[in-house]
Parts: sequence; structure tokens; C-alpha cells
Amino acid sequence: MNKNITLAHGNGGQENSELISKIFYKYFKNDILQKSEDSAVIEDGKLAFSTDSFTVSPLFFSGGDIGKLSICGTCNDLAMMGARPKYLTCSVIIEEGFPTRELEKIVRSMKKELKINGAIVVSGDTKVVPKGAVDKLFINTTGIGEIEYKGISASNLKDGMSILVSRDIGSHGATIFSAREGIELESNLKTDCASLYPQVKALIDSKIEIVAMRDATRGGVSAVLNEWAKTSNVCIEIQEEKIPIQESVQGICEMLGFEAMDLANEGTFVLAVPKSNEVRALEVLKQTHSSAEIIGSVSMEYQGKVILKSSWGTKRFLDLPSGELLPRIC
Ligand code: MG
Repeated sequence: MNKNITLAHGNGGQENSELISKIFYKYFKNDILQKSEDSAVIEDGKLAFSTDSFTVSPLFFSGGDIGKLSICGTCNDLAMMGARPKYLTCSVIIEEGFPTRELEKIVRSMKKELKINGAIVVSGDTKVVPKGAVDKLFINTTGIGEIEYKGISASNLKDGMSILVSRDIGSHGATIFSAREGIELESNLKTDCASLYPQVKALIDSKIEIVAMRDATRGGVSAVLNEWAKTSNVCIEIQEEKIPIQESVQGICEMLGFEAMDLANEGTFVLAVPKSNEVRALEVLKQTHSSAEIIGSVSMEYQGKVILKSSWGTKRFLDLPSGELLPRIC
């Protein structure tokens, strides 16, 4: 472990998990935390509980803002455990001099997104710090949801199961990067930032057997697949040409040398279902995004690893992302 914290420690990949295991788990270790799911399952499986902080820069970007993100982020982590988001807290740290009108715009976005989830803010906190002590505005939200579908877990994947993505990947990361670097886009690229509970509800209502679900936020789809392969001790085999990537996102990746699989998403999830459910699950996902796809399956070939298979029959390992990917993406 480094002597000082680096930006890479917040990447949602290798260095981030090292930071969590070597510092936080060391002192906070308990059975619930140890499960490392999207949210903690508490009270005999009745409730899901999760927290997230938002530091995105810039605060406003194509298709969203920090307010929308702060509700989607926490509500999505609850939804990924099969829970209906219900109660949230909201803590805001504001830099002295921040425009009130912008603050109201952000809170208005939060309200709009809460409505989609059917959730309310029941407790909050505001702190104002001197100029320079924080960059404009940071938000923390914590949420409680009522579990409607039990048994979802990253440790449930078994040989032969199918892996799906809910839509094309990487647009949040690509959007934030372009906004920050002032890259002019001819396309209408925008963040995928969205509340996922409605899609989860559709899967539950359609009686899909959900094995595992995870929103592919920091570290992207690569991080989700690697975490699942490790936790379930299975191999996940992905067909490269099946991964849905928008042309504009692919363009940005090529320009900057990124892998779309490593880019952050804020309204895209990976789903594992039994093979017998894959066609129906895909139908349900396609009702929201026609770009949803079955991208691979679970095998026992290289346990704990993710393999990318090309259409020419070549194979390579897909690792957990590392290094300074894109700081302050969420
Ligand atoms: Mg998550």
C-alpha cells in the first residue's frame, strides 16, 4: 500500500479495492460488509441499505447533473439488490460563493429522480465551507429500500448461466470526459444516468429468475465481471462483438486509448440469469433500451477470471481496471 492516497485509489478498480480491504475492512469487518454487494442486506433480508458520495466535475453535463446522479447512484444500488428505494438522506457540502440558482436547479433534479423511484428524502444536512475547501459542491446520499426479490448475490453465479447488459456501455464516462476536456461532439452523446428501479420491477413482474445484478458504475463492466468471477469462483466468457457500444463512445475510446468496458456507467447494469431465462430477460430489457444484449456466459475454464473472445476465435483476459482512470466521474 502506498504511503499516501493517490487518485488511483478512487478508481473503482484494483487500487480502490486494495484501499478498502487494507484500511476499511481491517477495522470495520463484519459479516454484512464482507458480502461486498451493491447494498447491505439487513433485518433478515427485508431491507437494503446503501450510501454514496458524489463529486462529479463538471456539475452539469449532457443528460444530467450531480443532483440526478446523487439520487440514481444510491437508488440504483438498492434496486440492484431487488429493493424498492424508499427513504433517503441527503448531505450537501457547499463551497462559499456557490450560486443559489444552481443549487436549486440541482435539488430540483433530485426531486424529479426521487419521484421516478417513489422515494423521499427524510433527513439531511448542509455544510458550507470556505472558498477552496471543497470544489463547488459535494453530495452524499444514503438510502433504505424494501427488498421485493430475495437472494440476489454476486456469489451465486454457476456454470452455464447467461450474462446480459441492459444497454450500450460507457456513455457516462465518455460524456464526462468530453465535457471536461471541451471535446466538441457532432453526435448527441449523453450520459446514461437513469434510475434502474423501473427496469428491475419489470424483470421481477415478468418472473425472471435474477441470479445477480450490478450497475456498472466506476470501473465499468470490467469491474463488475471481475468481481463476480472472483466472488463466485467461476470463469465469465464474453463475446467481444456482442458488447453494445455506441459509435460516439467507441470514437472517444479510440481517441484516448480507453476500453469502453472500463468506462463508468450510471444507468446500465449487468445481469446474470439461468440460461433458460436469457431470451425472456433480454425481451424485458429491450423494452427500455433496444441495445440490451446477451454478452456471454459462465464457465469453469479459468476460475476467477474474465475472458474476452473475439469473432476470430482469439481469447484474452479482461482484468480489473487499474491506474487513474477518470477521477471525479461520479
Ligand atoms: Mg453499484
